[in-house]
Amino acid sequence: MSAKNTPLGHIRNIGIIAHIDAGKTTTTERILYYSGKEHRMGEVHEGTAIMDYMQDEQERGITITSAATTFFWQKHQVNLIDTPGHVDFTAEVERSLRVLDGAVAVFCGVGGVEAQSETVWRQADRYHVPALAFINKLDRSGAEVEHVLAEMRERLHANPLQLQLPIGIEDNFKGIIDLVTLEQITYDDETGEKFTRSAIDPEHLEEVELHRLHLVESIAESDEELMEKYLLEEDLSVEELKAGIRKLTLERKITPVLLGSSLRNKGVQPLLDAIVDYLPSPKDVPPMIGHDPKDHTQNITCIPSRKEPLCALAFKITDDQHGPLTFLRIYSGELKEGEKVIVSASGRKERASRIWRMHAEHRDRETLVGPGEIVGVSGFKFAATGDSICADGSELIELEPPKFPSTVISMAIEPRSNDDRDKLMDVLQRLTREDPTFAYRTDAETGQLILSGMGELHLDIIATRITRDYKVACNTGNPRVTYREAVTGSGSGKGEFEQAMGGKEHYAQVQLNVRRIAESEPELKISAPESVINPHSHRAIEEGFSGGCISGPLGGYPIIHLGCEVTGGATREGCESEVAFTAATEAAMRQAIQQAGAELLEPIMSLEVTTPDEFMGGIIHDLNGRRCEVQEIADRGNLKVVHAKAPLAEMFGYATVVRGLSTGRASYSMEPSAFAPVPRKKWESILGYNPS
Ligand code: GDP
Ligand code: MG
Repeated sequence: MSAKNTPLGHIRNIGIIAHIDAGKTTTTERILYYSGKEHRMGEVHEGTAIMDYMQDEQERGITITSAATTFFWQKHQVNLIDTPGHVDFTAEVERSLRVLDGAVAVFCGVGGVEAQSETVWRQADRYHVPALAFINKLDRSGAEVEHVLAEMRERLHANPLQLQLPIGIEDNFKGIIDLVTLEQITYDDETGEKFTRSAIDPEHLEEVELHRLHLVESIAESDEELMEKYLLEEDLSVEELKAGIRKLTLERKITPVLLGSSLRNKGVQPLLDAIVDYLPSPKDVPPMIGHDPKDHTQNITCIPSRKEPLCALAFKITDDQHGPLTFLRIYSGELKEGEKVIVSASGRKERASRIWRMHAEHRDRETLVGPGEIVGVSGFKFAATGDSICADGSELIELEPPKFPSTVISMAIEPRSNDDRDKLMDVLQRLTREDPTFAYRTDAETGQLILSGMGELHLDIIATRITRDYKVACNTGNPRVTYREAVTGSGSGKGEFEQAMGGKEHYAQVQLNVRRIAESEPELKISAPESVINPHSHRAIEEGFSGGCISGPLGGYPIIHLGCEVTGGATREGCESEVAFTAATEAAMRQAIQQAGAELLEPIMSLEVTTPDEFMGGIIHDLNGRRCEVQEIADRGNLKVVHAKAPLAEMFGYATVVRGLSTGRASYSMEPSAFAPVPRKKWESILGYNPS
């Protein structure tokens, strides 16, 4: 089937989200196999999984970049994005969720709702993505459905609705009872391809009745008509039940729960049916809202129709053996092969030389794609992750870009030769276009190149890509914390700029106040009346303000929590100049910040360590020595889960430490949570001088 013929209502854009090791990749492999896309089943532990095609992924056995693929099921076109579970790759998850319409959350039947499941679930919540849950690994010893449901309620505040019952569990897991159709599904062979739907064995009937009652009641409550029918003791039809489940799922009032074991090839086809039956098509989700790139106040709605002008979001850029590839989600209009388009923010022209429907490693060429589609485009040179793409000659729209957290860790990198330096700059530029949570800069004082990112593993993988994939010879330093600075009080400043340049006199004077604010993002207010500062100069003042926030007075770290109000200023007739206003603002800020006084802030991580009881004492003792604040110790099955706030500066190499303290049995996850003041006695070692 060609995608061109797929009506919008028959498209599903979905992502699989989960904690690492819950079985996302294995489940995806099965999905591709059963939908006829693949003729062999890849196995993660053998390093042959089709979706984990990057060398790094196969070596580490984890998913680190999301790969998009398209398959067909029950005459529906499903565009699937495999997302990683590791928080160091949070950007991957964010940008996937931003362009997806629905999600499948995979949980391990033994581990239940683990730390990263919580994180990705919250992300899905933020983007209002309706979800299904798939409780996997029911063949494992210790698997229990009830326990996972309870954790979904407690930890995710979800409202799970069980659509199936397991037949047997652990070693004895044989199949599934479908509570909607009242059939049992048993598998006839090891590959799971052949299965039988038949009447439910009498031994299960009692349990089925109980669960069915709950299911029907929950659905009837969603709809007055159904409730009336139900109260009259008329049974609801399968179609009515399915329509009710679909409605409640799209409203995000319930999370339908499906069961299975991907490794044992059980439960995957009913999961595919549920994706088609219950997850939204691009028509079912609210249309995307954008803004005019010049004037951010006006909302523009992207209607998912082929007749509208093109509007798409570039949500991912990758580089492979064929060159750079830009992944687009199309929200409205059509994109033709060879078409010229515009990057809304910069106004630059791009050409979509080729359009590809992606299948992990290989791809099919498409000549025309429409709304709701997710495709890869080659030929783009400027568009970066998060950019909006519009038709040439139509009204430009800028869609809300995905939100990315700020970097917390940095590392020096040094090319081995001058030749390598040129290559390195080129590679770094590419990598920043691909990965919005990765940045680089040249340190003004030392001239060193500094990379920054989300965690040790993130920078480690970037360094590996630079040296191995791009073959640039470099030395790297130890990872370091990226600190911030904030003012402690308030201050005022006056800046002046006067200079003759290009045959013209430039003059400006700016007065402003600074103070600490609760929000971390710096805020500027220009309250000087128009008669004093012409609105034409506001842009130049904003630029000076941004420049003034880049490096603080203590150690040159970025300034956060800063509120600034421009109260007055002046220029002279004939000497009005943007350059002068920018420079005068920066000078005034330096003075005001100096007067206000500053302190150092450090990234604090939320840390979760999962450990057998016997190692807990040692782990907590160690955390206390790292300035960590233990907040809660919870039980998860027979394991203990320690929740703590941990200064990133104390957590380098923690992976090795945890392993050592627990003979390899404890695991942990960590994500940036806030910035907090650095204790004064640590300042000197960080700044390299005594500031008092
Ligand atoms: P991901 O990190 O979520 O992508 O998880 P993977 O698909 O890589 O699976 C992690 C590990 O769990 C691998 O060793 C899989 O073989 C194994 N696994 C996946 N699904 C099942 C299952 O249903 N039962 C059992 N026993 N193991 C599974
Ligand atoms: Mg994986």
